[in-house]
Amino acid sequence: MHVHRLPLHGTNAYVISGEHHVLVDTGPERARADLLDGLANIGLTGADLSLVLATHAHSTSIGNAAYLQREFHVPIAVHGADAPILASGLDRSVRLTDPIGFVMRWLGDTRFDATSPDVVFGHTLSLDGFGCAGTVVHTPGHTIGSATVVLPTGDAIIGDLLMGGWFGGRVNASQPARHYFAEVPQRVVRSLALLNRLGVQRLHPGTGGVLQMDDVRRQIIRRANDVASGPARARMRERRLREEPVIHGAN
Ligand SMILES: [Zn+2]
Repeated sequence: MHVHRLPLHGTNAYVISGEHHVLVDTGPERARADLLDGLANIGLTGADLSLVLATHAHSTSIGNAAYLQREFHVPIAVHGADAPILASGLDRSVRLTDPIGFVMRWLGDTRFDATSPDVVFGHTLSLDGFGCAGTVVHTPGHTIGSATVVLPTGDAIIGDLLMGGWFGGRVNASQPARHYFAEVPQRVVRSLALLNRLGVQRLHPGTGGVLQMDDVRRQIIRRANDVASGPARARMRERRLREEPVIHGAN
C-alpha cells in the first residue's frame, strides 16, 4: 500500500493506493488543474478513483469533490455532521483560534460546488469495500464531522485536525500546530488522544508536513492536560469544598 501526497495551493490531498485508489480530500476548486496533474504523475485519472473521502466539508478540502463525482462518477464519502455543509456549498462559520485566521479566511474560498454525498458515515467507515486497507474514524474538533483515515502502517491522514508548521506549512512544516479554525476547539485534543490510543505514529495534515505522534503527545496533548489539571482543576476542588455540607454541633 502507498500513500501519495498531492500539494494543492497550500493544502494537501492524499491518494491511498491498494487494490484500488482512494483520494482523501481534493484541494480547493482553483487547484483543479494541479489535482489532475498530480493524479497523472502517479499514473491515474479521476476514473481510477474508487472513492473521494472528505476529511471534512470545507472549500479547501472538497472544492473538487462535486466535479469528480460528476465527471468520473466517483462516489463521495463524508461524515453525517458535515454532509449538510457539502450540500450547502458554503463553508459554515467557524470559530477562529488565532488572529491569522481572520486573514486566512479573508484570503480563502468560502463557496464551493455543492453536491450530495454517496456515502454518509458515523463513528467509523472501513475502506475495505473501496479496495484499500484502512479505517475512517470520526475525529471532531476542526468541524463537528471531521474524520481521520487510520492506516495499518501507523499513518493517519488527519485533514485540518492540526497543521504542520506556520504560514501554510512554509516554516517548520513538521512542527505540530493548532489550526486557525476550530468549530469545537475543546474536542481537538480528545480526538488526538483517540488517535494516540489507536497506535497512530505519523500524522499527515491538510497543511504542512508529516507530524510525529511523539511531538503531538508532548506539545499538544500533554500541555492541554497540564492546563486541565492546573488552576481550573484547583478552582473546581475549591468550589466542591465550599459546597460541602457543614454539620453543626457535631462533636
Ligand atoms: Zn478545514
